[in-house]
Amino acid sequence: MKILVQKFGGTSVGTLERIENAARKVIKAVESGYRVVVVSSAMAGETDALIETAHRISEFPNEREMDVLLSTGEQKAVALFAMTLRKMGYPAISLCGWQVPIVTDDVHTKARIRKIGTQRIRNLLEEGYIPVVAGFQGVTETWEITTLGRGGSDTTAVALAAALRADCEIYTDVPGVFTADPRIVPNAKKVPHISYEEMIELASLGAKVMQIRSVEFAAKYGVRIHVRSSFSDEDGTWILPEEEVMEKVVVRGVTVETKESRITVVRVPDRPGIAAKIFKALGDAHIVVDMIVQNVSHEGYTDMSFTVSKTDAPKAEEIVRKVAQEIGAKEVVRDDRVAKVSIVGLGMRSSYGTAGMMFDVLAKNGINIMAISTSEIKISCLIDEKYAELAVRELHEAFIEEGEEIKVEDEKGKGS
Ligand code: ADP
Ligand code: ASP
Ligand code: MG
Repeated sequence: MKILVQKFGGTSVGTLERIENAARKVIKAVESGYRVVVVSSAMAGETDALIETAHRISEFPNEREMDVLLSTGEQKAVALFAMTLRKMGYPAISLCGWQVPIVTDDVHTKARIRKIGTQRIRNLLEEGYIPVVAGFQGVTETWEITTLGRGGSDTTAVALAAALRADCEIYTDVPGVFTADPRIVPNAKKVPHISYEEMIELASLGAKVMQIRSVEFAAKYGVRIHVRSSFSDEDGTWILPEEEVMEKVVVRGVTVETKESRITVVRVPDRPGIAAKIFKALGDAHIVVDMIVQNVSHEGYTDMSFTVSKTDAPKAEEIVRKVAQEIGAKEVVRDDRVAKVSIVGLGMRSSYGTAGMMFDVLAKNGINIMAISTSEIKISCLIDEKYAELAVRELHEAFIEEGEEIKVEDEKGKGS
């Protein structure tokens, strides 16, 4: 049985007409011999609207209840999708996460998938049904509803594809993965093939076209993903193992993330164990910390800054304020107006001068760098949010438009 998982994002199911358009893609795949499993997001704007409603009640809505609320977005979409397929003459059955079941841990609002039962889906496929699975949601061992974090329907799709040993298509509102967000950089180009590793970096650095965990899953289980537009038939981007990506370049893409906040603990006593205290408290609250900068110490005191997602920022600030009091720090300052711009590419492993060039581009545009972090295949700089789009456009021009000749020949390439 040749199985294909087709995932449709919010815009692709944003209206009844669009659901019909998506259903036509499903029918085309069925007619070409695939058994299709559909994964659907909530209709465009629905999840945001539900979050906004909850926040009218409380700044920190109860996370269990948040999951019960947010899962309704996908529940509605899959029912409408299945009805549409039925109207078009194809038997379909909608399934919520718990009905599959997609079993997760119990970290509400950002749960991780632990296992997927495939028997029910396999039975439905055998009987000729098209299962339409609600993305983004799961269930714990104790029957609590969970959600997988924003963009989590991608992860539902890839995890299902892994469990069913299926191919995976991600239908979205752009024709693939681009060298930068096409909404910010009009000259951005579609990338025909990209490695898991590069896509993981791009996703974690702000290219929200794929949720990072979905690509981690794909890499772990070798799922080949085709990201493409639900509004055309053109080929999109294949996300593949590195050895299958023919063209290796120094910089594959430029990203920007404006959903982080910087928190600074001012005048912290500079002695062993202080950093551990701060970051352990954040870890205990399941808060992911990104960039960390500690300034040079002056008279036994130092400033320590770090970034967390904007959603976690109020909670992180509250936690750090408590620790700051205990350790005798002067104050805690939160800045929500920061942006992280990054360049990513496998070829960076074997090239030099890339960091210098990046800092130079920012400097020439009068953009100050507040923090830097690097890995083998990426460089990120934290800057003032007001320069975010300018920085992305300038970096794209320098590294991708003008730097087209900067290619690497092979893994240890000299071409850069
Ligand atoms: P969906 O609702 O289909 O899951 P998302 O809004 O989550 O879609 O992701 C698609 C969006 O990702 C695009 O509309 C685009 O603006 C944005 N995006 C950011 N960076 C990139 C990139 N490098 N390539 C393609 N799209 C990107
Ligand atoms: N509806 C959820 C969100 O908006 C999940 C998804 O679309 O992937 O984040
Ligand atoms: Mg998405």
